Amino acid sequence: MSEENVHQTIERDGQKLQLHINSQFDPDMQIELQDWVVFIAETLQKVYGRWPRQEWEISISPAPAVGSDPIPWAQVHRGEMDRVEFYTASQVSADELKNAWTGYHELAHLLIPYRGWGDLWFSEGLSSYYQNILMARSGILTEQQMWQNLYEGFLRGRADSRFDGQPLNEVSSALRKKGGFMRVYWSGAWYFLAADVRLRRQSGGKLTLDIALEKLNQCCANQRLSVLEIVNKLDELNQVLLFQSLYQQVRISTEVPAFETIFASVGITIKDGTVTLQQEGPGARLRQQIISRTTL
Ligand SMILES: [Zn+2]
Repeated sequence: MSEENVHQTIERDGQKLQLHINSQFDPDMQIELQDWVVFIAETLQKVYGRWPRQEWEISISPAPAVGSDPIPWAQVHRGEMDRVEFYTASQVSADELKNAWTGYHELAHLLIPYRGWGDLWFSEGLSSYYQNILMARSGILTEQQMWQNLYEGFLRGRADSRFDGQPLNEVSSALRKKGGFMRVYWSGAWYFLAADVRLRRQSGGKLTLDIALEKLNQCCANQRLSVLEIVNKLDELNQVLLFQSLYQQVRISTEVPAFETIFASVGITIKDGTVTLQQEGPGARLRQQIISRTTL
């Protein structure tokens, strides 16, 4: 495969995104890819109001296999410059790419200064939670669709029960060898949903997961931290006792923790497999703020 690519720098408020598109894509397709990248990169700004890194990189190559998935493969490389590598179908529209969750999922990985190994459930959980928030904030999903996705995700996690009874950290460590992806990803997503709701409730809406993670980003974006270091920093910077204790609780959980109580507390009811969002009440207001990225 040719290594040649078309390079372009996208600048926003003094920050730089280096975009490399493999020249095997035909020129029309390169325009679709560019359109898609600008869209998902703008979506990533809807967490900190800026990108998590001063300079970062996205590279896109055509996926060798043809299938129905517009983005069959992607990977994040953490280094001097964080790089997100996408493999897409060689003919696909920007709209199809925007509707695929993979783009948002990969970009959400950049929100924390993770060193790329250990406690994989934490990093994948962050992305599984934020991919839905990002898609809702950018208008790709309605609020109802976002919670329906989270609901279905938690159910998939629960259905992946082969390793129930084993602590999450063990299942997570053996993930690549033995599987259990849905258990691991959705236990992690539960961690971030639980943390977000608790932070908002405890602080009366002044503190949010966005704000908590942004403080970590401000202090430590250039560091490579273990997850234990990350959760300790998050508690310290936000003056809360939450991230570390919840981490200890979730890493020894023996199944995907129950999400029903959290859903009920933010005004979500489930009937016949469909989520319904209440529009009134303190729980509903807290929930609505998750998407609008506002604080009280
Ligand atoms: Zn991931």
